[in-house]
Amino acid sequence: MKVGVLALQGDVREHFAALIACGVYPTTIRRPEELALVDALVIPGGESTTISHLAKIFDLFDPIAWRIKAGMPVYGSCAGMILLADQILDATDGQESFGGLNITVRRNAFGRQVDSFESDIAFADGSNEAIRAVFIRAPWVERVGLGVEVLAEVGSHPVAVRSSTILATSFHPELTADHRIHRYFIEEVARAALQQVQ
Ligand code: GLN
Repeated sequence: MKVGVLALQGDVREHFAALIACGVYPTTIRRPEELALVDALVIPGGESTTISHLAKIFDLFDPIAWRIKAGMPVYGSCAGMILLADQILDATDGQESFGGLNITVRRNAFGRQVDSFESDIAFADGSNEAIRAVFIRAPWVERVGLGVEVLAEVGSHPVAVRSSTILATSFHPELTADHRIHRYFIEEVARAALQQVQ
């Protein structure tokens, strides 16, 4: 399986390291030709407005949106979650997302109380062990649409969700040594989806 990491802005290196720890050697994606060569994509944490702006400049915005609609497995953390959401609350003027995931997110949702925090949360992958989740000016999910499953919550707010081919987390597993979320993406989301196509 060829996995790309969108490398326009954000914590690209950290996602690289997490994927390598899961036995996948990823490639950086900065051009449409590079996107065309991968089976699955990771959209890093960073700043969603900057990533979508740069994606337009690099002629990647529409190709990414099309690939997602066509069923390419994709995982987004934090800003990546915002970029995958069909609707964004507290977006900047004219901010657009690639979309594909039937959710509404609120940007910087935790930001008004505390900008950043860490929490041990349950993640519904069948394991009883909590995940150390790092939240940095994180979004939360305000509406979960049809076909979207909630995998983790903080308070009553979903912070990890998936549809059949899309995984998104408000937090940054790439910033910890626990690679369960990346492994879940590779094995349960991406490999499962790609096997169905073959
Ligand atoms: N608040 C950022 C945004 O709107 C996301 C922060 C992050 O990725 N850590 O894109």
